[in-house]
Amino acid sequence: MNEAIFVLNAGSSSLKFSIYGVADQDLNVVAHGEIEVLGTSAHFKAKDQRGQTLADVSLGDSTKSFGHAEAFTHLARWAYENFADELVPLAVGHRVVHGGLWFSEPTLIDAAVMTRLEQLIPLVPLHQALNLNAIKAVLRLWPDLPQVACFDTAFHRKRAEVTERFGLPEELFRRGVRRWGFHGLSFECIAGRLRRLAPDVSGGRVVVAHLGSGASLCAMRDGQSVDTTMSLSVLDGLPMDTRCGTLDPGAVLFLLRDGWSVDRIEDLLYKRSGLLGISGVSNDVRALLASDCPRAAEAIEFFVYRVIRETGSLTAALGGLDALVFTAGIGENSPLIRQQICQGLTWLGVRIDPDANQRGNGRVSPEGRTPSVWVIPTDEEAVIASHTLAIVRSPAARDRCHTRAPAGGPRLALPLHATELLPSGPSVPAGDCLTGRSTEVDISSDE
Ligand code: ADP
Repeated sequence: MNEAIFVLNAGSSSLKFSIYGVADQDLNVVAHGEIEVLGTSAHFKAKDQRGQTLADVSLGDSTKSFGHAEAFTHLARWAYENFADELVPLAVGHRVVHGGLWFSEPTLIDAAVMTRLEQLIPLVPLHQALNLNAIKAVLRLWPDLPQVACFDTAFHRKRAEVTERFGLPEELFRRGVRRWGFHGLSFECIAGRLRRLAPDVSGGRVVVAHLGSGASLCAMRDGQSVDTTMSLSVLDGLPMDTRCGTLDPGAVLFLLRDGWSVDRIEDLLYKRSGLLGISGVSNDVRALLASDCPRAAEAIEFFVYRVIRETGSLTAALGGLDALVFTAGIGENSPLIRQQICQGLTWLGVRIDPDANQRGNGRVSPEGRTPSVWVIPTDEEAVIASHTLAIVRSPAARDRCHTRAPAGGPRLALPLHATELLPSGPSVPAGDCLTGRSTEVDISSDE
């Protein structure tokens, strides 16, 4: 019987998960996938480490709302039905979008931590609350299991203060209206992988282009964040699948004066802008590249142009460029987008080898060329899993946890007073889902 770490990443329309078996210090993916939770329709997909499908099913009926709590209940029951003989949960690690000034490291979650994380909801209203809902959903099903929060902001917390400012009064900066930066778990993953792949390069001035549904660039020196394109919210910087990227605040004032409500503007900026808004065709780069609609080409042209411009800006922040790294869905999978971006950076000395770029794995610039160009897959879940394991095994965590052996199973680490973490919602006894009994979890107050 192995211990297992569950990693959860709760987004607006899905609960992504990975389950890792723990063998000494090694973490091996047992299963990963996602549960789409779009209102009343839900779909569960899981694959094993080799990419073989373990599950691909529609869930629930179309009359009941299916949220993150139901999604986690389903996942826990599925995990029990498939892995009860092999795995026992050790801890759950969560991607949490915002750690504010309080959390610059992964953190064991207790009542005080939850209170602080809830205070950060106004800074990223569409994301933080979903992350916290996932923590609450685990708490209800597995109240005794340690949970660890890993933050998207943490990697950027050591930057110089000047890079965090807007040109706004000091009081607003102190209240949190500052350029926080996100995608930190991905950038941390790339910093570690580049260190292993090319230690001499990783010690230099590197721009990492995380180009996925969400997109941002990070300027790193010696593997540490120096500056980044996202700021207060996950809207700033590069245009994204449906998010606008950098915008003159005057545009928002214009819309407000034009009678638009805050909710309507929020919907516009988060869900109807970016690649989708410009093209009117799709938010997916694959569909845009395949389309013969001129506006699809314009959306791609704009995306590429903005990546080039922001790379130039971050190169100035670094005082030069030793390497450029592409990662995430677009960065890892589109040789054409990489080629177009690199074409626009030839003035910096950037070159790519066409064959290596087609292969898209490791260094894609000619040997010996500086700046070098790399394609490195990101794995935020692996970063979360390894932080979670380190925390639950650390002496500091042991001080805050006690252990007990559940009947017939190996020892689990239990945070003291875990059941007092949050008063809201019905508490489901630990192990209910593991016995296969049905559990009714009311999350209406959370959504
Ligand atoms: P997230 O994890 O934020 O959902 P991903 O990093 O998986 O995002 O990136 C998803 C995006 O990657 C898709 O929306 C699509 O635009 C892009 N993408 C995936 N595969 C390809 C490909 N082969 N060519 C171009 N773009 C791709």
